[in-house]
Amino acid sequence: MSSNNHYDVIIIGTGAGGGTLAYTLAPSGKKILLLERGDYVPREKDNWSTRAVNLEGKYNTKEAWRDSDGKELHPHTNYFVGGNTKFYGAALFRLRKEDFGEIRHHGGISPTWPISYDELEPYYTKAEHLYQVHGNRGEDPTEPWASAPYKFPAVSHEQRIQHLHDDLERAGLKPFHVPLGIRIDEKNARKSPCIRCNTCDGHPCLIGAKSDAQTICVDPALEHANVSLVTNAKVMHLETNGNAREVSKVVVDRNGVREEYSGDIVVVSCGAVNSAALLLRSANDSHPNGLANGSDVVGRHYMGHINSVLMALSKCPNPTVFQKTLAINDFYFGSREWDYPMGHISFVGKLDADTLKAGAPAIAPGWTLDLMAKHSLDFWLTSEDLPDANNRVTVDRDGQISVSYKLNNVEGHDRLKAQLQKAMKQTNCDVHGHECHQGLFSRNLYLGQRLPLAAVAHQNGTVRFGNDPKTSALDRNCKAHELDNLYVVDASFFPSSGAVNPALTIMANALRVGDHLLERMK
Ligand SMILES: Cc1cc2nc3c(=O)[nH]c(=O)nc-3n(C[C@H](O)[C@H](O)[C@H](O)COP(=O)(O)OP(=O)(O)OC[C@H]3O[C@@H](n4cnc5c(N)ncnc54)[C@H](O)[C@@H]3O)c2cc1C
Ligand code: SF4
Repeated sequence: MSSNNHYDVIIIGTGAGGGTLAYTLAPSGKKILLLERGDYVPREKDNWSTRAVNLEGKYNTKEAWRDSDGKELHPHTNYFVGGNTKFYGAALFRLRKEDFGEIRHHGGISPTWPISYDELEPYYTKAEHLYQVHGNRGEDPTEPWASAPYKFPAVSHEQRIQHLHDDLERAGLKPFHVPLGIRIDEKNARKSPCIRCNTCDGHPCLIGAKSDAQTICVDPALEHANVSLVTNAKVMHLETNGNAREVSKVVVDRNGVREEYSGDIVVVSCGAVNSAALLLRSANDSHPNGLANGSDVVGRHYMGHINSVLMALSKCPNPTVFQKTLAINDFYFGSREWDYPMGHISFVGKLDADTLKAGAPAIAPGWTLDLMAKHSLDFWLTSEDLPDANNRVTVDRDGQISVSYKLNNVEGHDRLKAQLQKAMKQTNCDVHGHECHQGLFSRNLYLGQRLPLAAVAHQNGTVRFGNDPKTSALDRNCKAHELDNLYVVDASFFPSSGAVNPALTIMANALRVGDHLLERMK
């Protein structure tokens, strides 16, 4: 291997974890290499086509995984520079302070983290500022303390959502503005990078106004002469040196050609499924269960949240363009009647008929898909699934990925749906008066569909961090217990996942690990 192929730091994967880490290390002057299996998302009109994105799955990987029965699974995940943040809805939440401790759920225990909320807090603030999160502090009844305000005001509700907000407030709830990483300036629309469109959640931003890991972190990192990126570079496996304490070689398949790189520090950040798969594929005589896997936890404790999309139909149309501005956390920790956590309610991007065709719900009697889409409020419900060692990622001899997953802790999620149903029944409408009010109550119809396993958007937990090498793969700095130069900074490190979207926690943690690495490399 030529010394040209040796780096101070190699980062594998450029998503929320890897991209953010590259950004924070870039000014150090260290020689840094980013290896990314995908390419840049092509800039084209289809970026904003719901048909191309949702119905045809144009940007999803064509790779097939398998489920526990050996059936083919086509994961809704994306391999591009910026990772899944190119497609995310940019709802950037902090976990709650309590999520870092042990929490008793109806279905079992959500375990404690090796670091506290207070330790991560400065990095949450940094990550919010870096990703230009727009939000209002003090509205979310469960939000943890924060050392600084958001730098940008919350994205406003459109009229239909504002009505819903007012109705929910009258019903005694505390709806709040979703913290969002979209670069919108509502006071100066002419100069605002973001134009507030209806194809944000699930779509790449054609005009680069979404705060994704490529735009915010990878592109600026690459302006430093010491940072380079190789795309279409799929890391196949890692090799260790003689004493087996260090990763000595990173083996890449680049368009069918084998390439080798080495780094003083190697950081894996391929997303929770692919990072576990990479470590498992890297088994050798000294590490027979895979790298960092003396504890046998690598690939285990797969989590992905319990997610449902619920459409609330009403007579009243919903002409909202950008719907994802409102959330409800009143049931996050439970309610007066139910002492266990239920979860988080927010929105997906406004559904249209093409999107509905992709995962068509049963058509409500008397409605067409198009009409349903025009009248629905499209809720996104998230509850915590608990880490179960039997929910796991494995690889076969050819390196093919299988994901075995059995949903758990569902009672809280079902109760969360019931709470939303109850709240919606209390809503009123002042556009159509009493008639609409009747219709809204009588026709409020929920078409519950729990997302299937192929939806791996919130994958996490497969290379957990912890203080005990017997029960975790990584230490509190996300360094492998068993290797001196191997780190993991994507969503794999989560020992539990709370019930809010994961990306901000991944970004904040990458900044934290970045500080540790800067200190180490001094
Ligand atoms: C449609 C959608 C909407 C979402 N909305 C939200 C939201 O609103 N809020 C939120 O917080 N989260 C959201 N998420 C989830 C969020 O995008 C992920 O949690 C986050 O991107 C995970 O970060 P990561 O670093 O773990 O992995 P990723 O961002 O997936 O990055 C992994 C990277 O590694 C690369 N890679 C994989 N294997 C290899 C290999 N062998 N060699 C080289 N490179 C490799 C991949 O190509 C990818 O670039 C959403 C996800 C999706 C799909
Ligand atoms: S213009 Fe704004 S709303 Fe539309 S995709 Fe880009 S960031 Fe999202």
